[in-house]
Amino acid sequence: MIVTDTFLTSNPYSRPGTPLGEVMALIMHWTGKPMQPAQGVRAFFENRKTGADGYGSAHYIIDQGGAVLRCIPEAEVAYHCGVAVMDDEHRDPASWKFYTDWARAQFGESHCQTAPSIGPNLVTLGIEMCVVDFAGNFTVQTSDAAAELAADICTRHHLNPFSDVATHNMVCGYKDCPRLWVNHPELLGEFLANVASAKAKRG
Ligand SMILES: [Zn+2]
Repeated sequence: MIVTDTFLTSNPYSRPGTPLGEVMALIMHWTGKPMQPAQGVRAFFENRKTGADGYGSAHYIIDQGGAVLRCIPEAEVAYHCGVAVMDDEHRDPASWKFYTDWARAQFGESHCQTAPSIGPNLVTLGIEMCVVDFAGNFTVQTSDAAAELAADICTRHHLNPFSDVATHNMVCGYKDCPRLWVNHPELLGEFLANVASAKAKRG
């Protein structure tokens, strides 16, 4: 796994410079755009500095070839799993709250408040995984690099792969992100097992 630092320009929309607190979970995402390369995703985050495209970013983006871009230092907040708009479309369908019961249990009520809080972004790292199709399939290279990176993050931040690595869907409820793992929970299970195995090899 090769990580390339290519930090976003500091700006209110994608790299606010807010210090990240204790890392309480690692949140996995899909980019949602078939065959869009990591550099394209990064450019989209960078261009948000104009203010024309709203808020959003992630600490890492993993390419279809397995290359990893680091867009935001781990000590800073990225905007990847907060609920920005407080309307019914952004409620968790199961609890009809903003943020899921899982998020409340994991982060505490204080990190699951509505605006102007930025919520779980204050205590999580985010990884965007590039995809090959609208079903959300990943290449083997992307999956393998994601497992390695997640294992590295779990080791450094003392996270349990099975309880502290989660999907965006598990935090917000309304988003099918990453789509493949929302529709196929068994594949999420396989991924978490791969993270645990990679973490075990690191000792
Ligand atoms: Zn997401």
